[in-house]
Amino acid sequence: MVESTAEKILHMLAQPYQIEDRELHIGASIGIAVIPDDGRSADDILRYADTAMYQAKQAGRNHYKYYTQSMNEAAQQRLRIDTAMHTALENGELQLHLQPVVTPDGKPAGAEALMRWRSAALGPVMPDVFIPIAEENGLIVPMGQWILREACRVAAALPDYMFMTVNVSCVQFRSRGFPQTVQDILVETGIEPSRLHLEITERVLMQDVEEVRQSIERIVDLGVSMAIDDFGTGYSSLSYLNRFPCSTLKIDHSFVMSMMEDQASQGLVDAIINMGHSLHIHIIAEGVETEQQLELLKYKGCDFLQGYYLSRPLPIDEFKAFMHQSV
Ligand code: C2E
Ligand code: CA
Ligand code: CA
Repeated sequence: MVESTAEKILHMLAQPYQIEDRELHIGASIGIAVIPDDGRSADDILRYADTAMYQAKQAGRNHYKYYTQSMNEAAQQRLRIDTAMHTALENGELQLHLQPVVTPDGKPAGAEALMRWRSAALGPVMPDVFIPIAEENGLIVPMGQWILREACRVAAALPDYMFMTVNVSCVQFRSRGFPQTVQDILVETGIEPSRLHLEITERVLMQDVEEVRQSIERIVDLGVSMAIDDFGTGYSSLSYLNRFPCSTLKIDHSFVMSMMEDQASQGLVDAIINMGHSLHIHIIAEGVETEQQLELLKYKGCDFLQGYYLSRPLPIDEFKAFMHQSV
């Protein structure tokens, strides 16, 4: 009964709405808690249903989920991370790590800036865990600004053939004044704009909102390059490659991993490289973990390579040492 009601609600909301000349889609996530199995007071039941709804959202939206005890533990851990994150920046707990990006002949060409957080209260927390929470509570905006500034400052002191790639979350991109922040940081750090690459995921482009398009245009007008991260994992629509001025595609590491065993993945890698090159877009393969993967990707014509086989993400001093021994 509960399930069929949840399905009915999801189904009804999923019908497209025609508003003027646009078709809009609404998604929903439903959490379910049951009296008396999960609790007896209305407050408890609502709180548990809310926890289950959060899990349903995490599962990709348009789902319903029943509350379970383990969800409560996960929710408490999430709350601890959320609380500790509010003071991470002012306590100097964030760190910039750099992962080298190299040319096919092994020369360092650039770096990807990756955020690290060593919380005084919780110890090290990995980005896959804290970034989604920072996106929910909005702290990704100041944290993202911090890493952008740090990465540009470091890049300004590196040889000027090196590019610096910084990940920008969807939430940052939609925050007011993001292009202005980029411009201010370029001026403040003195880095040549063309050396800065901003990585966004297909999710940002899929939003297809005018403000996203305008922000990208303003950023590109500053001379900064745009890269699409995790290419091929979203609901890729090739049409946006035409509409958005992007200069680099990053082949997701899941394709690099499965390419050795699976012909279909290898076909996809070939297709991405060929398509990118015919549109004058550079291709970076990420997640290169073995020599065989490296050789195959070089043979296929990837412009740049990145992965543990070449180097793990490194603290700045170790990154500089890597640069010295590689040139
Ligand atoms: P991403 O942007 O796709 O970054 C690449 C991730 O792959 C990094 O994980 C990196 O350490 C890892 N990696 C590199 N080489 C290999 C390899 O050979 N094999 C495997 N299995 N993994 C490899 P990390 O640093 O844990 O970051 C995870 C994700 O968190 C990033 O994925 C990115 O989406 C997000 N993230 C990290 N730093 C930032 C940031 O400053 N801002 C934003 N918005 N997101 C960030
Ligand atoms: Ca990235
Ligand atoms: Ca990626």
